[in-house]
Amino acid sequence: MRDQITALKELQNIDIDLKEIEINLEKFPNIISEFNSEIDQNKESITNQKTELSQIEKEKSILESELEQNELSIKKSEEKLFEIKTHKEYEALQKEIAEMKRRNFELEEKILLMLEELEINEKKIAEDEENLNSKEDDYNKKIEEYQLQIKELKIVHEPKILEKNKILEKISAEVLPIYKNVSCKNGQALALVVNEVCTGCNMNIPPQLYNHILTETEIYQCPNCKRILYTTQGE
Ligand SMILES: [Zn+2]
Repeated sequence: MRDQITALKELQNIDIDLKEIEINLEKFPNIISEFNSEIDQNKESITNQKTELSQIEKEKSILESELEQNELSIKKSEEKLFEIKTHKEYEALQKEIAEMKRRNFELEEKILLMLEELEINEKKIAEDEENLNSKEDDYNKKIEEYQLQIKELKIVHEPKILEKNKILEKISAEVLPIYKNVSCKNGQALALVVNEVCTGCNMNIPPQLYNHILTETEIYQCPNCKRILYTTQGE
């Protein structure tokens, strides 16, 4: 039975390695896609801010051309004032000019507010772009590292499986289901016995059972955690 225990220990070690490899092979690509999606989100936010900025710029240029048109009209009307003969017409035109000036004052105010808004937005975009650049550098380095690790894990994964299959050939058909069953429930299927205590669950092993374990004639399981027990005797 000792060679069975030896093979089971090998199997357990390889299962621990394989589990770690497989967890990381699943985890690392997820981390990479999280990095990428964060970068994409930041890029999208900057694009949205830029769209908003150009919208404000468009509105501003519409107001500016209205302002310009009004100024021309005011100039023309003011020139026309000199040619007017009647007092009534003069007053009407003056009222018109005043109205245009009032409108222009309003336009200037709006344009000024837009300029302030544009300045704030441009500053925010520049900041965001700078942050994104350094984040992208940082994340790209990390992604590269993870990709390298994935590549390395893939290289060792297949040989480990082959190695496991070889070990499995050494394990008897009666013992393997016990191993599988316990490792499924408890993670590790084997536990060392030290001072008549199972190191898997820290429970005392009955003396009778302990004596059996020492004989190494059969596979013995811990009465409490069901792990396959072994001792360091003969090692
Ligand atoms: Zn136990």
